[in-house]
Amino acid sequence: MLSQIKDLAAKLAPRLIEIRRHLHSHPELSGQEYQTAAYVAGVLSSCGLQVKEGIGKVGVVGELQGDGRDARLLAIRTDMDALPIQERTELEFASRQSGLMHACGHDVHTTVGLGAAMVLSQLGELLPGTVRFLFQPAEEVAQGAGWMVQDGVMEAVAGILSVHVFPTIPAGVVGIRYGALTAAADDLAITITGESGHGARPHEAVDAIWIAAQVVTTLQQAISRTQNPLRPVVLTIGQINGGRAPNVIADQVTLLGTVRSLHPETSAALPAWIEQMVAGICQLYGARYTINYRHGVPSVQNDFVLTQLLESAARESWGSNGVQIIQEPSLGAEDFSVYLQHAPGSMFRLGVGFKDRHNYPLHHPLFAVDETAIVTGVVTIAYAAYKYWPSTPIIVAVQRINPALSQPYSLRPIP
Ligand SMILES: [Zn+2]
Ligand SMILES: [Zn+2]
Repeated sequence: MLSQIKDLAAKLAPRLIEIRRHLHSHPELSGQEYQTAAYVAGVLSSCGLQVKEGIGKVGVVGELQGDGRDARLLAIRTDMDALPIQERTELEFASRQSGLMHACGHDVHTTVGLGAAMVLSQLGELLPGTVRFLFQPAEEVAQGAGWMVQDGVMEAVAGILSVHVFPTIPAGVVGIRYGALTAAADDLAITITGESGHGARPHEAVDAIWIAAQVVTTLQQAISRTQNPLRPVVLTIGQINGGRAPNVIADQVTLLGTVRSLHPETSAALPAWIEQMVAGICQLYGARYTINYRHGVPSVQNDFVLTQLLESAARESWGSNGVQIIQEPSLGAEDFSVYLQHAPGSMFRLGVGFKDRHNYPLHHPLFAVDETAIVTGVVTIAYAAYKYWPSTPIIVAVQRINPALSQPYSLRPIP
């Protein structure tokens, strides 16, 4: 079956590149992927899938029915949105929308999802279970997954797979990560309220700027002394506002920041920890405070069994040179984690790097991909889907025997 999947994908390659270039030329902002969604729905319908549009506001769902031997439903998720970036690649299929660009490779993700639907629908045999293809909007603003879930896309889903391109991995190679792949990204807003006064008479005032400076410094130092160094926390205050004049002591300062962590327990404990620090400092110097801590998307924790499925599909397809085990997670965020609150899943990194020229990072106006990676992505995900049903029961049994295998993350000792 693998050779059949590879043949189908190879035959479809010109069409897939055409689809990807069309999507790349016509980027749309998060939550406004109307043309993209209509295009996706058209391709899915032409493959004979049952298609629903307007799911998760602008998302599309396509179902490839299985023969009913297995009730477990597998979801494959890709995202469709572009970024407010002016493309500078000068490719013939560069963005035709001024100020908008597919600079995160979501055009490739959408193409890989469509390619997998094309391949799996042409296998000439029904799969034991149903594959539900999710094309979500608004990943870049970390909203689309929540909208899709609210509209019920995770009902009956037993497992979910996804993909993100990665320019530092060469095309032809698949990056596999066990455990934490991305971080929880939370928003933090702190307001320090003091007492205004003359800049020459600080003892008659409560200086909110100085106290805010203590808060920023203390939070950074306290991370290194009170947080487990093997459970990273990054706390960045990216914006400070306060003060009215050089010779007037500020009575109010707001601090805005982002907080990243990899372990769900860390993320859960952070609001109370931050408040403890801020309250202590404010009490010491007579200021008041408010804290607004908003949990954003959680960390993506790749499921062991489904990561193993992706790895074995990639190894069989591309050999061991075509698989790279990723040792470190990223502190970036990815709303794929929202689906993982409803079913286990795994996201792999699809290498799209050119071997013979400089590769620009994601979100860069010169970001480009080696399009040969599209077939790599399609075969990997289609073959993993094909293997999903027979392989799962065996591994589930192993998992029961050894609970360590289901640990959500593994920390390797630092040599
Ligand atoms: Zn992005
Ligand atoms: Zn992205």
